[in-house]
Amino acid sequence: MKARTLKKNKINVITLGCSKNIYDSEVLMGQLQANNLDATHESKKDDANIVVINTCGFIDNAKQESIDTILRFAQAKHNGLVEKLFVTGCLSERYKPDLEKEIPNVDQYFGTRDLPRLLKVLGADYKHELVGERLLTTPSHYAYFKISEGCDRPCSFCAIPLMRGKHISTPIEELVESAKKLAAKGVKELMVIAQDSTYYGLDIYGKRRLADLLTELCKVEGIEWIRLHYAFPTGFPEDVLEVMANEPKICNYLDMPLQHIADPVLKSMRRGTSKEKTTKLLNQIKERVPGIALRTTLIVGYPGETEADFSVLLDWVKEMRFERLGVFTYSHEENTHAYALEDDVPEEEKQRRAELVMEVQQDISLEKNQELIGKKLKVLIDRKEDGNYVGRTEFDSVEVDNEVLIPVSENYLRIGDFTTVEITDAEHFDLFGKVV
Ligand code: SF4
Repeated sequence: MKARTLKKNKINVITLGCSKNIYDSEVLMGQLQANNLDATHESKKDDANIVVINTCGFIDNAKQESIDTILRFAQAKHNGLVEKLFVTGCLSERYKPDLEKEIPNVDQYFGTRDLPRLLKVLGADYKHELVGERLLTTPSHYAYFKISEGCDRPCSFCAIPLMRGKHISTPIEELVESAKKLAAKGVKELMVIAQDSTYYGLDIYGKRRLADLLTELCKVEGIEWIRLHYAFPTGFPEDVLEVMANEPKICNYLDMPLQHIADPVLKSMRRGTSKEKTTKLLNQIKERVPGIALRTTLIVGYPGETEADFSVLLDWVKEMRFERLGVFTYSHEENTHAYALEDDVPEEEKQRRAELVMEVQQDISLEKNQELIGKKLKVLIDRKEDGNYVGRTEFDSVEVDNEVLIPVSENYLRIGDFTTVEITDAEHFDLFGKVV
């Protein structure tokens, strides 16, 4: 990195990990801006004298990426290219004492619930009145919409409760207020996120109120799409299905990480459900919300996962034909319940199983995409790239799902606009179309 004149008190915020971390960085930047501090998100100019890294501590790869990023900026600080370096987020929450010892060239480490303290060392005061206000880092037509923090679930493999603490829902009024502010800024799509969105309300209202929340969000003018992520199968609030079926603003889309389906593995994972119950729930969802696109995430190579357990999973993926599916290999995480088990599935076998699942899924995805050829679909334009406008249908979330490619040469479209597209061709994970 070439020597540069560092701008006085320019703060560069770096975000690693999931959409919830992006949300937290946006809140941090909103607070900094309200304190008249110059903050940028992942500035390429390297001219900031202060760097804040919002880390991820979820699984091995993500942890390594966070550590590499801290080391990179610690080196930059050593070389005089950065004056102050602060680290926050999940990795810092989980491993603060070790990090302080191993990478001392960081001015201070903060946890996931230390925003006021972090702001203090950045020369800012925490402004309560800014509830829901943030500096968006996503394209201005969609925004991540975090409805709660933390998680009360006991999933054996998961370190998130160690880093994010207990489940805390944000009151409906505050969320509606935030949605109105976002709509006023031009946001049209809300990506509803949480660790477990279906748990919403149980803590502050004594009952699940996701359906009520969605109903209120649908009343916010300017918001056209509301997309539900991170639903949990056990105790799924069925009243949500009615709202999804009746409210056109709610995308015909549901992300529900299921992790596995073989009963012995589900039991060991402490998921509180079974193959029979999960299958019944998914079929009920498809019946009550016709045409819904279901996304799920699976883990392969969990301790004790036998060849038989894996083939139960693979056969079930073939049978259920998810519209969208992702797979992770099991990561042996300290202080989780599963850490006491032997991580007995060899790494290459974990990889082999993950590849087999995705081979099956890509064929299913191609078949389902080909069924859309000739159909006219509402598409939200996200960006322009390589001679195409790139957009998404209501069946696709950002970053992880299919995209629709529309040639720039034949059309004039604006980023952030909805348009109607006739699908002319399809590949495994992409659709091609023309504006009609
Ligand atoms: S619901 Fe999700 S975040 Fe919560 S413990 Fe289970 S896997 Fe982790």
